[in-house]
Amino acid sequence: MAAHPDPLALTRELLHFDTINPPGQEEPCAHHLGALLEAAGYRVTYHAMGPGRANLVATIGGDAEIAPLVFTGHIDIVPLGAAPWTRDPFAGETDGGRVYGRGSSDMKSGVAAFVAAAIEMAPKLARSPGITLVITAGEETGCMGAYDLVTKPGALGRAGAIVVAEPTGNYPFIGHRGAYWLQAKTHGVTAHGSMPEKGVNAVYKAACAVTCLEHFHYATPPHSMMGQGTLNVGTIRGGLNINSVPDEAVIGIDMRTVPTQTHAGIREELVAALGPGVELDTMLSVESVYTEPEQAWVQSVFDVMQPILGSRPEPRTATYFTDAAVLKPAYGNPPTIILGPGEPQMAHQTDEYCIAERVLESRAAFVELIRQWCRA
Ligand SMILES: [Zn+2]
Repeated sequence: MAAHPDPLALTRELLHFDTINPPGQEEPCAHHLGALLEAAGYRVTYHAMGPGRANLVATIGGDAEIAPLVFTGHIDIVPLGAAPWTRDPFAGETDGGRVYGRGSSDMKSGVAAFVAAAIEMAPKLARSPGITLVITAGEETGCMGAYDLVTKPGALGRAGAIVVAEPTGNYPFIGHRGAYWLQAKTHGVTAHGSMPEKGVNAVYKAACAVTCLEHFHYATPPHSMMGQGTLNVGTIRGGLNINSVPDEAVIGIDMRTVPTQTHAGIREELVAALGPGVELDTMLSVESVYTEPEQAWVQSVFDVMQPILGSRPEPRTATYFTDAAVLKPAYGNPPTIILGPGEPQMAHQTDEYCIAERVLESRAAFVELIRQWCRA
């Protein structure tokens, strides 16, 4: 085991694993990381999630008073897309200071950076509050791995603070909006189109619901940084043929939510507004995440990132959601930062790459965060 594992070499190793989700197949990649961590002294637990799939939790140290610092990242990647790649998405090609590959930015470089930092610091952490690494499967399909982990008693341990190493170009974000997707269904009674009076038209009911949604306002106040939650009707379909009264219509509702809201509360508001004739099914529910910028540990993260970024970070939030939506409440809402070396605009793109220098900076920043947390 090298004393200072190279986060770029590790990024390239992780890129070799085809963890495209679906189907995921993260287990070999998780075992690769688990073996490295175990050799460095970490207690490693795998949590199976169906055939070929596993989440990994690795921990070192531990202190009765101060909970560990948690780093988290996912190892599944999104499909390659329809457009052809000019680089091999799994070879870990390097060129001009960039490392190419699916997942290079989102977010195998982030996982490699915190695993490299964790292994480097391991010899100093045995008698410290310690750190825990939560490496998830299935994030790209709605945080499935994180949801699976929180159902397993004791799997996560404790967290004093959380670093989510999603791609931020090393800019520390203090939260993100949530995503709440619903299918609203209306029902009717079919009849021949020439005798509509014998039926009940589900499309007319859906049209009323859409009008109601267009004028809907959340009862909750806007958030100081993220503003008000949004609502958009993205899809509508109903009826099978032109000469029948349709007996079902379905509306797709996409809401982006803010920390003044809960999804349970929103659902109650919608049920009240739409009435009993509209059935609501959840397609995706990932709550928003936020930590006050004044929080002491957040400020210490800003201190660490200031020299790397060249100026003091301002409180900003990410545009995408993360596993923190699931893990932060499960850990009792410790302060949480989204901070990783990937390029946010490269996530899910053709010819995805990350910038090598940022991965090295990220490893150094994570080492410093561990050193401060564990007084190591
Ligand atoms: Zn991601």
